[in-house]
Amino acid sequence: MGELTIESLYEQVRAAVPATGPEVSAVPVQVASGIRVLALRTPTLPPAAHTNVYMVGPEQGPVAVVDPGSPYPEQQAILDAVLENLPIAMVLLTHHHGDHIGGAAALAERWNVPIAAHAATARRLAGILEVTQLIEDGETIHGLTAVHTPGHAEGHLCYELGAATIAGDMVAGIGTILIDPSEGDMVLYLASLERLLARPPTTLLPAHGPPIADGPAKLREYLAHRMMREGRVLASLTADPTPLSALLPTAYGDTPRMLWPLAERSLLAHLDKLSRDGRARDDGSGRWSRL
Ligand SMILES: [Zn+2]
Repeated sequence: MGELTIESLYEQVRAAVPATGPEVSAVPVQVASGIRVLALRTPTLPPAAHTNVYMVGPEQGPVAVVDPGSPYPEQQAILDAVLENLPIAMVLLTHHHGDHIGGAAALAERWNVPIAAHAATARRLAGILEVTQLIEDGETIHGLTAVHTPGHAEGHLCYELGAATIAGDMVAGIGTILIDPSEGDMVLYLASLERLLARPPTTLLPAHGPPIADGPAKLREYLAHRMMREGRVLASLTADPTPLSALLPTAYGDTPRMLWPLAERSLLAHLDKLSRDGRARDDGSGRWSRL
């Protein structure tokens, strides 16, 4: 099947689906006390076309810059102009995906600041981007509390500040979150949604799309949606081992066909979970049956 990365999956979908997200202004907007956001164009999953760069700290700085994800020089120039007169403390990453790290090296080099992330993110980025400072679950960094939320990516961190949580790719304000089994894990993702839900309620600041004022409601909606999907995946299985492509019409019949390359990855993530739950079985050649 070749090298399967989330970036290559995003690319397949971008070829088929135009980005339909709103035009985003390239001016920083205050979204919470001590947090401003700038949306920069990135190669991400449509309909989203931008990744939010969050700037955390007082108006005059120093600021921590979270997920400078754009690889495009003219987008990086917009960020540079915004940061021109601000001292920068560090670059923080939520996780290793290309649409979150694309501008990190350029920014860290320009301002001579560390790049900080979870150890699992640093491992994933070995040879691509040097993470110079590791962040552990529960650690306070630049006034933010790091919360380890694996699932979409192994080293995914959210960052809490007062009544706001920088949520990375745990939830999306536009589009959906992909759990791809090559680097994600549905069991961990569900546990991470529950973990965020158990913490004091906050506004969620996603990497894609606008702030989500009622964070707990969104987390419950995501959990319910995944449970609904698991039910459909289970309903698509029979006693006969069946390939993924033949399960899709039942499990993802409500999803546009052009998204089926992604749906198939998500289907596999659900099946992996069901297999660990003792409810589904892989016959060793990619055909699945009910247990
Ligand atoms: Zn991601």
